Amino acid sequence: MKQVTIVIPVYNEAENLAPFLKETTAVCSGISGFDFTWLFVNDGSSDGTLEELRKFSAENKNIRYLSFSRNFGKESAIYAGLQHAEGDIVILMDGDLQHPPTLIPSMLKAVTEEGFEAAGAKRKASLFSRMFNSINNRVSSIKLEKGATDFMCMSRKFVNAVLKLSESQRFSKGLFAWVGFDIKWFDYEQKPRAGGKSKWGFSKLFNYAADGITAFSVLPLRIVTVVGAVISLLAFIYIIATLIKTWVTGIDVPGYVTTLCAILFLGGLVLLAIGILGAYIGRIYLESKERPLYILDESSEQKKEDQNEQN
Ligand code: UDP
Ligand code: MG
Repeated sequence: MKQVTIVIPVYNEAENLAPFLKETTAVCSGISGFDFTWLFVNDGSSDGTLEELRKFSAENKNIRYLSFSRNFGKESAIYAGLQHAEGDIVILMDGDLQHPPTLIPSMLKAVTEEGFEAAGAKRKASLFSRMFNSINNRVSSIKLEKGATDFMCMSRKFVNAVLKLSESQRFSKGLFAWVGFDIKWFDYEQKPRAGGKSKWGFSKLFNYAADGITAFSVLPLRIVTVVGAVISLLAFIYIIATLIKTWVTGIDVPGYVTTLCAILFLGGLVLLAIGILGAYIGRIYLESKERPLYILDESSEQKKEDQNEQN
């Protein structure tokens, strides 16, 4: 009997937990040869998510949870879940039922019978995500699948490889591609959330995309170097040409517009270059602190032990 752990990062999903468990249980009970465990990671929810999780895990020993001391972000929740998942196979999915549980049987088959180390779900990409994808794939040596989500089914080997990447600023989709194993992709239609609302605004998405690029590529740094070199070269040619022209025709009427343009243009470029440099230095700074990715407050195991002590 193969052990499967379903890892679900949840942040304020109280109203979705019961429907999520109902739908996933319905699908999983129809698959033979596997033992399923649910491992929820409560990412510092402020609604009744934790209370619901306590209740569910008390009722069913196959339902476990970890609970963070505050909101550390989905990426940290994913890492914690993968670290604590004990299964031979780990399925990572959202708790809002936007990742269709009906894909689980074919994903499991791909990993256990078809020789893939992982199976992932991809959806029709939004304009923003298509743009990010094509920039990323041009800039980075790690190619991302178009529309890829982090709804993934992974072998133990794949999970262990991902866990070796312990950087604190995580971009899981990129890490899943970085480890290099073959992933089988399944298309799906994204449904609206079962309840509640998405935690991603545009600015959060934009930063996420920028992080994704700086995490995997230093090409932006090379581009500013090349642009700098080209401009210096052009300036040098311009200086020589001006000198020769002055020798031949004498001193021109001075014009301030060209000077102003040059200063503004170069000033802008220098600031841009400093900004790009800063993005990388910021990453080094955050990474060098080596802070833990999350702090646990309680878990199904931790809490049960406490109760035993009391009895
Ligand atoms: N999530 C989380 N921590 C956060 C934000 C989200 O654990 O800080 C969880 C959330 O509860 C859900 C999953 O990550 O299970 C996906 O989040 P959401 O549905 O908001 O993202 P979207 O589907 O809009 O990409
Ligand atoms: Mg969602």
